Amino acid sequence: MVIKMKEKVFITSSSNETRQLAEKLGTLVFPNTLITLNGQLGAGKTTFTQGLAKGLGIQRKVTSPTFNILKIYKGRLPLYHIDAYRLEDIDQDLGFEEYIDSDGVCVIEWSDFLPGLLPDERLNVSLEILEDDSRKLTFSAQGERYEGLLEELCTL
Ligand code: ADP
Ligand code: MG
Repeated sequence: MVIKMKEKVFITSSSNETRQLAEKLGTLVFPNTLITLNGQLGAGKTTFTQGLAKGLGIQRKVTSPTFNILKIYKGRLPLYHIDAYRLEDIDQDLGFEEYIDSDGVCVIEWSDFLPGLLPDERLNVSLEILEDDSRKLTFSAQGERYEGLLEELCTL
């Protein structure tokens, strides 16, 4: 199967700008959404997830799940926030499929550490720190549902 891919690039110059962009996305996401976040430590993956949670109507403070690996929040849709940083090279089934293929929104920081586990249809966000400390966020939508989502985000 050939999956079409569409890319958009955003530059944010503060953590609040990153949160606002992600918040918009949070208002648009649908049940069974998968979003991957990749980029070096401090790039803004957790900050992005905080904005997304706000867009889902989640009141609780979203913090890094690095040590818990998975955190669940209740909002308009449930948010499953996974951080795979400590899972590099762990070659076992951790049962994430349940969250990835769910009625909620699954966000995975460091998904590059989970090769082979993820369905092809998803929204990938890669975050880069630029020289002036702003962040370059490259969104790539895989599959029609996610292309539509990215289109909507850009017109909002
Ligand atoms: P990660 O989860 O990728 O390790 P965090 O979101 O925990 O990163 O941390 C990002 C750090 O970078 C925060 O301290 C945040 O305030 C800072 N920051 C500075 N500029 C930005 C920006 N444009 N977007 C997101 N975070 C930013
Ligand atoms: Mg993080």
